[in-house]
Amino acid sequence: MHTVLITGASRGIGAETARQFALNGYRVLINYCHSKEKAESLLDELRQITDADIFRADVSDPVQVKEMFALIEAEYGGADILVNNAGIAQTKLFTDITDDDWNKMVSVNLSSVFYCCRSALPFMIRKKYGRIINISSMWGQVGGSCEVHYSAVKAGIIGLTKALAQEEGPSGITVNCIAPGVIRTDMTACYSEDDMKALTDETPTGTTGSPADIARTVLFLADEKASFITGQVFGINGGFVIT
Ligand code: NAP
Repeated sequence: MHTVLITGASRGIGAETARQFALNGYRVLINYCHSKEKAESLLDELRQITDADIFRADVSDPVQVKEMFALIEAEYGGADILVNNAGIAQTKLFTDITDDDWNKMVSVNLSSVFYCCRSALPFMIRKKYGRIINISSMWGQVGGSCEVHYSAVKAGIIGLTKALAQEEGPSGITVNCIAPGVIRTDMTACYSEDDMKALTDETPTGTTGSPADIARTVLFLADEKASFITGQVFGINGGFVIT
């Protein structure tokens, strides 16, 4: 049985990804930071289906990430699939972004990917097998106005993915990236109806996406048979961005 760790799995895309892995026979390790009740209720749900566990850690903190992986190693040996999904967003004029805004954006969305990959890799390298799937954003591909710090870190995830894929390929580890478009979660709940309509109108499919649209792609990339796919960026965005 493969073991998957999904960061930021208490809500939204991460929670749906956890469900999809559970339904497909994986052992699922849920990471969360603030949403304890939601994470625990998801754990109860998943335990009806598969082996599952839960780990609280702020993934922007290297010490907490190390401790989480030490617990995972002690309980399960390690995780052979890592989904770096945890993230935050913020909409602000570039000139209004403070040092704190910038540093938080970098640490939660990008440094977390570095910390988690660094802790996950020794087990994968020993096994000569692993799957890393990083969640970027279409704004990381093309840039989003009033989301410069978010766009910058999401572009950083794409660069990290491509470079790490080259380094880890010889160890049987694939590293890929998904760049979602507009997905209906708490993160986009702040958009007004008018904003959502404008975004939908601009999307060739005429729709927004659901967490399941992303989860299905994560599952595909995590499969043993996806061994020849690495270093790639998958735009799941209804055609909003076509690179
Ligand atoms: P969401 O509904 O706001 O959920 C965010 C998740 O990240 C929550 O489970 C949250 O957990 C977790 N998280 C935040 N900070 C964390 C930290 N420091 N440590 C651990 N977990 C943390 O967002 P979402 O829409 O599902 O987004 C998931 C990912 O997709 C993000 O990386 C986001 O940038 C990306 N994305 C989303 C969209 C979209 O339209 N929704 C588009 C492109 C990319 P707690 O509540 O427990 O803290």
